[in-house]
Amino acid sequence: MKNNRGLLIVLSGPSGVGKDTILNSLLEKSQNIKLSVSATTRSPRAGEVDGDDYFFLTEKEFKTLVNDGGMLEYAEYNGNYYGTPKKAVEESRALGQDVILEIEVNGAMQIKEKSEDALFIFIMPPSRQELMRRLVDRKTEDEATINARLEVAEYEMSRAGEYDYVVVNEKLDKAVEDIQSIIDAAKCSAKRAKKFIDEVLNNA
Ligand code: 5GP
Repeated sequence: MKNNRGLLIVLSGPSGVGKDTILNSLLEKSQNIKLSVSATTRSPRAGEVDGDDYFFLTEKEFKTLVNDGGMLEYAEYNGNYYGTPKKAVEESRALGQDVILEIEVNGAMQIKEKSEDALFIFIMPPSRQELMRRLVDRKTEDEATINARLEVAEYEMSRAGEYDYVVVNEKLDKAVEDIQSIIDAAKCSAKRAKKFIDEVLNNA
């Protein structure tokens, strides 16, 4: 039988690159992709809903989940913890549903180090100037936060080469199409088809 386990798709990119817009469009177009809801210790922003945008946890609750082996990965970002609860990801993948994680670089690389069977995609801005413009235009953050995010953004972009694919978000539609093509190609990877090939060969 072909490998029907859902793909694990890891998506990263600097703050301001447009990840959320890309994700929303991708999820609208692809019925079989589920977005993993992360846990975080940061406070909810206006309009964010617990269990929907994030599971908002205390530091104690977060660390208990980590110590119990309940996180697929976790990292500290801008003074808060963020992590991917493992159980929901495993359940969806077992049902054949693709799961996408929108996470920062250090968490993504933890997944890579564990040799998890995952697809790593990094979103780049068309230029440094464009990223700065988008960050400032958001107006949801004060100058100190924007500067801190810019510094982290530069670090994240310096690690883009460790991903499997890099998608430039110049035009939203094209970026989404690129990601869909990458996912389609990953479904046909020889590695993923190994068991199927063996079955065909051994079923003379
Ligand atoms: P924000 O506070 O803006 O929602 O997210 C800040 C950063 O945390 C973003 O780069 C986002 O990708 C990352 N992030 C969100 N959830 C997770 C997670 O579960 N694990 C890791 N490692 N990073 C996450």
